[in-house]
Amino acid sequence: MSIRNINNEIMKENNSKLVMDVIRHTKDISRTELAKKIGMTQASLTNIVNDLIQKGFLVETGEAESNGGRRPILLNINSTAGYVVGINLKATELCCIVTDFSANILICEYEPVEITRGVDAILEQVIGMANRCIAASGVKKDDILGVGLVSAGPYDYESGVMINPPNFMGWDNVRIKEIVSSALDLPVSFEKETPAAALAEYWFGDASRSRSLFLISIFDVGIGGSLVLDGRVYHGFKGGAAEIGHMTIDPTGKQCACGNFGCLETMADGRATTEHYRRALKLDHLEMQKLGITDVSGADLNFLIQRAQEGDDLCVRELERSANYIGIALQNVIQMYSPDTIVLAGEFVDNSDLLSERIIRTVKARHYFKHMPEIRIYKSKLGDTIFPLGGVALVLQKYFKM
Ligand SMILES: [Zn+2]
Repeated sequence: MSIRNINNEIMKENNSKLVMDVIRHTKDISRTELAKKIGMTQASLTNIVNDLIQKGFLVETGEAESNGGRRPILLNINSTAGYVVGINLKATELCCIVTDFSANILICEYEPVEITRGVDAILEQVIGMANRCIAASGVKKDDILGVGLVSAGPYDYESGVMINPPNFMGWDNVRIKEIVSSALDLPVSFEKETPAAALAEYWFGDASRSRSLFLISIFDVGIGGSLVLDGRVYHGFKGGAAEIGHMTIDPTGKQCACGNFGCLETMADGRATTEHYRRALKLDHLEMQKLGITDVSGADLNFLIQRAQEGDDLCVRELERSANYIGIALQNVIQMYSPDTIVLAGEFVDNSDLLSERIIRTVKARHYFKHMPEIRIYKSKLGDTIFPLGGVALVLQKYFKM
């Protein structure tokens, strides 16, 4: 094929993806409107649209009101064009979803994980669950476009190797993508959990128009970050970008699993907040008496969140302390990258409205933000499906312009 033909092919593919992306955002759009939006002639657009209808990616779904002449026919994404499996593998839980081409969730299953059972047993569990979910969804395996697998980092994007995640004991250099792909006989894409969540927020959440999105995942154990620029994850050298959980917040603080001292996650994730609360309780006999406990081990994160919600001063103070550290870290992110959108996700913020409110308040109260009131900062509405949905976005993005 000549260079000219290759260029034509690439342009045609890019234009097709652009058409798909505009229709995904606007829905129910006529050919005339579409041509105007994209800035393409009606003739070239008609060719692309007809080709996409023939391939099954687009459908005609009724007629719009007429402005005098013939009623224009409306175009939409064909939800049944293909199906996607999204998997989130955590150290304690596995979640698998199957969606259609419009990312509507057809099935969503959870299973507990005992990571100490070892790599082979856990990957067998992942593969077994994916097969069961595909069967339960009623989707034919031939109609599955791909699997988006989401798990903990660090991850080598070039070789497809999960390096040695801190909470996955014994998982050293696991070729996870290759193993799962060959066992399922399906193409597999991999992403770390927080970048995947950021992609999901961009694709299916409220950040679809964001040019620069920063997402922070605040977990019971660990804190992650990701920067998405124009719909693409910014991985940085060796995939190490945006690791906000290891930003130094207090150089005299506790040592982190990464070797540094006073990293954000050692100061403010769910585990750190609980540890700090327990320490405060041990020093406060009156509070212990009031709670009717002699041993602080019962004062876990759920207990702390619940009591904070009921207005208990000590618990509110502990959550505020963590929110303050997270807010300071986000303030540093704003200074460095000036994102237009900041999103909070992860189970710790999902379970505590007070925590997310206080983080947002801390960020907004700081000097720099007052000059940038347009920066959006909010908690994601996607809940814990944000992670497997990130896997779905990984697969679907190949069909739409980014
Ligand atoms: Zn660290």
